[in-house]
Formats: sequence, C-alpha cells, structure tokens
Amino acid sequence: MNLGILLTRAAKSFPEKIAIAHGSYDFCTYSELASRAACLAGFLKTGLNLSIDERVGLFMSNCPEYLEVFHGILHAGMASLPINNKLHEKELAYILDDASAGALFVTHDLAERAHLAVDEVGKDIKIIIVGDSNYRSIIRSDPVQITHRAANDLAWLFYTSGTTGSPKGAMLTHRNLWDSTLNYYVDVDRVPSNGSAFHPAPMSHGSGFYGLPHLAAAAKQVIPESGGFDPAEIYTLISAHEEVSMFAAPTMVKRFVEYSGGGSTENLRTITYGGGPMYVTDCKKALERLGPKLVQIYGQGESPMTITVLPREDHALIEHPRYEERLASVGYAQSIVEVRVADSEGATCPNGEIGEILVRGDVVMKGYWGRPKESAEALRDGWLHTGDLGVFDEDGYLTLKDRSKDLIISGGSNIYPREIEEILLQHQSVSECAVIGRPHEEWGEEVVAFISPVTGHSIEIGELDTLCLDNIARFKRPKEYRVSESLPKNNYGKIIKRELRSQLEKEEKE
Ligand code: AMP
Repeated sequence: MNLGILLTRAAKSFPEKIAIAHGSYDFCTYSELASRAACLAGFLKTGLNLSIDERVGLFMSNCPEYLEVFHGILHAGMASLPINNKLHEKELAYILDDASAGALFVTHDLAERAHLAVDEVGKDIKIIIVGDSNYRSIIRSDPVQITHRAANDLAWLFYTSGTTGSPKGAMLTHRNLWDSTLNYYVDVDRVPSNGSAFHPAPMSHGSGFYGLPHLAAAAKQVIPESGGFDPAEIYTLISAHEEVSMFAAPTMVKRFVEYSGGGSTENLRTITYGGGPMYVTDCKKALERLGPKLVQIYGQGESPMTITVLPREDHALIEHPRYEERLASVGYAQSIVEVRVADSEGATCPNGEIGEILVRGDVVMKGYWGRPKESAEALRDGWLHTGDLGVFDEDGYLTLKDRSKDLIISGGSNIYPREIEEILLQHQSVSECAVIGRPHEEWGEEVVAFISPVTGHSIEIGELDTLCLDNIARFKRPKEYRVSESLPKNNYGKIIKRELRSQLEKEEKE
C-alpha cells in the first residue's frame, strides 16, 4: 500500500495536531497538511498531466513546504526524487536527466541553478517555484484520492552522494520505507505523542527518512528558520519544543556539543547520529554534555537508515569492560535485517576477521535506476554488497573499517584510516582529521594525514607523531601531516576524502 496513507491516517485521527512548525511558529495542522498534499497531487495528475509512474524532483532548502511537496507526490502515487540542494547545476542536470524527472519543485534561493540545469538537460521538465503565488494556487487545486501503489512500486529515488563514482539512483519502494519507518520504533526510539522531530540536516537524506516515523506517530516536525544547522538556533528551539529528537551527522553533533553559547538540553530526547564515523573522543564529549541521549545508526541509501544500531543503553554502559570498543563500533544488526561480513568469494568471515559488509532484508533497495549491471553487482545472491569493510566481534557488534576505496595498502599491509584518525583525535589540539593514501613508488601507498586544529590551537607535528608511535604500529604512522583550517565536507557533513586525494594528485602532476 501507498506509504502516503501514513499522512491521511494521522490527519484523520489527529486533525488538529500541529504537523509542522517553522522555528517556534506553528505552520500547519495534520488536517491542513493532508489536504494540501491531496491538492498538490491533483495538480500533478490533472494540472501537469503526469502519469503515476513519473519521478518528481525536490531541489529545495529545508522549509515547511518540503513536506507538502513530498507527501503530495506520494499521494499522487508518483515517486519522489529528493536532491541534495548543494549540488552544482551540472550535477543537478545529471540527476534530472538520469532519472527522467517529469517536474521539479524548487525553493526561491535555488531557482537560478534549477533553470540552468533544466536548460542543460534540454527536456521538458516543468519547474515549480515553491512559495510563490502560483504555488499557493497549486495547493488549492482540486484534491484527489490517494493512488493505490503496490509494496514493490517506487516511492523514493535516492541518489547516492557520489563519494565513490558518479551518483546512482537507489530505487526505494513503498515496502522499503514502511520497513525502515516501523523499525525506527523497534530499534532507535519510541515517538511520544508530544514528540518533535527537528530537521537541521538536509531533508533529502537521513532527516527526510526519519520524518516518516514521526509523521506516522502524528508528532510535530520542526524546520529551523535558517533551513539548516545553526547550533545557536537549535539550542533556542530545543527550549521552545518538547521531546525533541533529530538526526545529525557526527560532524554536526560535534559542533553542537562544542558550541560555547549552548543552553539547556532538558527538552532534548534523542540525537540519532550516523552517515559517517563518530570518533570515540567526540562521542564521549557529547555524552558528557548531553547525557545518554545518543543513538547511532549505520545505513546507506541502498538500505535506508537500517543496517545496524548502537542504542542509547550501550552509550550509557560506562562500566562495560569493552565500553570504548562498543562506542567505536556501529552496534549490532537492526531487527529487520540480516547482516554478515564476507570475503571476496562471498563466504562468511569468522568473528574478528575483516570483510565486506552484506545486508539482506525487505528494507534493501530494489536496484539502481536504469543500471541493471550495477544492480546485479550490488545485489549478488540476494545480499546487498555495501562496499563497506567491517568486522564482527563475538557479541555481534560490528566495527566499520572504512569503505573499501578508503583502505590504504602500504608495503602489502592493510591500513585502516579510521584507526589512525581515532588516535590523532585524542590530541587536544586536533579538531578534525582525515587520513588517506598517496601513491608511493616503493610502498604502493603512503599515509598522509589532513588535520584541522581546534580554534586558537597550533599543531605540533612532533607531538602527533609521538602519539602515533605510542599507540599504533610504526608503518601506519602518517608520513606527512597537512594542517588546514577546515576539511572539505559535503552537504551531509561527510568529509570528502575524494577531494583530498585529488589535491594530492594535482600536486604530484605539477
Ligand atoms: P549514504 O548512502 O550517502 O547515506 O552513505 C552511506 C555510507 O556512509 C555507508 O556506506 C558508510 O560508508 C557511511 N556510514 C553510514 N553510517 C555510518 C556510521 N554510523 N559510521 C560510519 N560510517 C557510516
């Protein structure tokens, strides 16, 4: 059945509850949100004459209307195509073309880029600017009934962030998203009736997925007025709402915790973090500041938000003999998936041995849009091959060992960057770091560490070197340290190692 009924049901049972707040102001009730979605669906079907098999893009900054558009598309039975709003017009054009989008909803601030992209594609893609007078009449169009969809029909076409290769559209079905939504309650958190889901992180990604379990529970979705992540604003909003939960990249959690002007976090219920590595030092600082309000998830677009979980209880078990190891892990398999670690032949590795992480379950994508070869490659023998390397301990806790592409092989030995990064981050002057491999004639690759210092601190390379020598094997030690004020990150807060690698390659050629 169509995932869109989550909204129609919530509106039926809780018509007067606030569905969306913009900052601290109420934006609309559930009954208003559902009726706007039904009108917007009417516009897509009769106004634009799109078929139910179309993909409709959202190239939008986080704003309340995002949810009207997203649910309008679902209500119409069409597939939503949320796009990272930081993309360049060329990248946007690539996705619109690849997905053969029929229409594109855009916020004002992104309109110019959207027009350039659509011109570049050269196809008839209708652009709708959200919030203008035309949009206001669209959400008053004649409403339509929700379109029935089968469990295996496409609901969300999710373009991978392209940290490896060009972006591919992971086809997420209604069943995939139902499963991921229901499993939130089982493994991540309960949603209380007065709960508020904050969206400081891009709604085209994790925050958007987690909007669904909150909507199904008729909780309030809070969109910061800045449309993004501003620690000062989030602290203020936490005091203005109840039972607050939010999804955040580890880099956002770090900024939030370190923000010097921070206020009370009494109303904060849960921060779910994931999407990139949370280092033990940062995690402990966050726990000290916030208390045991953290849950970690490991997922990827191909198995949205749902591979493993490190629940809040594990964050609180300070007395556990392997507490630090557990904080450094991504937890255990979420309830509705099977997870195993396999060698290159697909055979399950014994505990303690590193291999590729494979996932099986109803939450796993149907395949990549228009890419039968890559789909068959990713979904071999019924298992999603994540491209991530990991290792299970005997209690079923999985530790991620970087993506296979990030692995450094030096002198025939495998070096996992995360291991070195964890050590470097123990130094009080290191704020962020990223370790990568640089081609080396004799060794194959050598280790280079990019460091950004804590504000007001300077980096003593000798001290970092001693720290490494005291904690890890000699051969893993960085051969060079590069210090810069900040490290390149994508819109989802992930450090883009690809950019650091090409920086080194460029220098090599010069
Ligand atoms: P995306 O498809 O853009 O969500 O990226 C998914 C990738 O992010 C995964 O394949 C992992 O490499 C990484 N990732 C996701 N969750 C975590 C986590 N909790 N810790 C470390 N890396 C993660």
